[in-house]
Amino acid sequence: MAYVVIAVCFGLAGGIVGRIKGSSFLLWFLISGLVPVFGLLAAIAYRFERDELRRQCPNCGRVTKIYDALCTSCGTELEFPEVAIAPERG
Ligand SMILES: [Zn+2]
Repeated sequence: MAYVVIAVCFGLAGGIVGRIKGSSFLLWFLISGLVPVFGLLAAIAYRFERDELRRQCPNCGRVTKIYDALCTSCGTELEFPEVAIAPERG
């Protein structure tokens, strides 16, 4: 029973990571649930081919990845934006 709880927890974490990176929540939920720890690490390490959404720093105007918590240019703390900038390619 404890294994199921752990699997679901890792599944949720992996799914959320996958979703943030622009992949499928369900796909990474299943992977992380089937192989906890490894699946989650894979979701974190995996470099998704799909382009990520971007957004613009309100302070200095630099365009950063949508999931960045800090502006890489001026260090301003960034809230998750309501409006995203479309990916560069595709
Ligand atoms: Zn900035």
